[in-house]
Amino acid sequence: MNIILLGAPGSGKGTLAKKITKDFGLVQISTGDLFRACKASGSELGKKLQSYMDKGELVPDELTIKILSERMQKPDCQYGVIFDGFPRTVKQAEALKAIAKVDTAILIDLPFEEIEKRAVARRVCRDCGEIYSTIDYAKSNCAKCGGSLFQRDDDKLETVRLRLEVYEKNTAPLIDFYSDRLFKVSSLGSPEETYKPVKDFLSKIGGKK
Ligand code: ADP
Ligand code: ZN
Repeated sequence: MNIILLGAPGSGKGTLAKKITKDFGLVQISTGDLFRACKASGSELGKKLQSYMDKGELVPDELTIKILSERMQKPDCQYGVIFDGFPRTVKQAEALKAIAKVDTAILIDLPFEEIEKRAVARRVCRDCGEIYSTIDYAKSNCAKCGGSLFQRDDDKLETVRLRLEVYEKNTAPLIDFYSDRLFKVSSLGSPEETYKPVKDFLSKIGGKK
């Protein structure tokens, strides 16, 4: 079973992806994480990626598709993948057709004002990637592994606003692209409340549990 997660940046895709991964034995592939790992390696490619990401712009389709395809070659992908942050353009969705069959697209719905509020509060563990919010977690170290928490460069308010515009223009059209296999859920509630209907739905359509 292959799933894609659709939703504006900051709508809670990563949090939901982690929960699904745990219960359904899928591998989470986040293009944002792949790019950040490349950026951290300090390579030329990493610097190029950084220049787009820090501005809140999309990495060009060709480059995104190349990096994604390489990741898909790894054997862990064969049992099913959950795509988080990919595809982000119709062109990427077209390319994905040739790489994997998408069984379902989960659309996470959250008002833009709420996204802005959450994004500026978001912190990420440098070591294990766990996501926190300063709204309900005041410490500066990860509760799971003790790693230090940091704010992503692209979580600053100005950048968040720009990314929402980019989403409206480039990614929102994918809602129509996947309209024949769309499952919509609101992420206004807690992560658990958001996950519940998704879990029920995925169990019903035959994901292993
Ligand atoms: P979020 O989880 O907040 O949606 P991501 O971590 O997915 O953010 O992405 C961070 C940045 O990486 C994006 O703003 C964009 O510059 C780049 N990026 C990630 N995925 C893609 C993609 N599929 N196509 C183009 N750019 C991407
Ligand atoms: Zn951690």
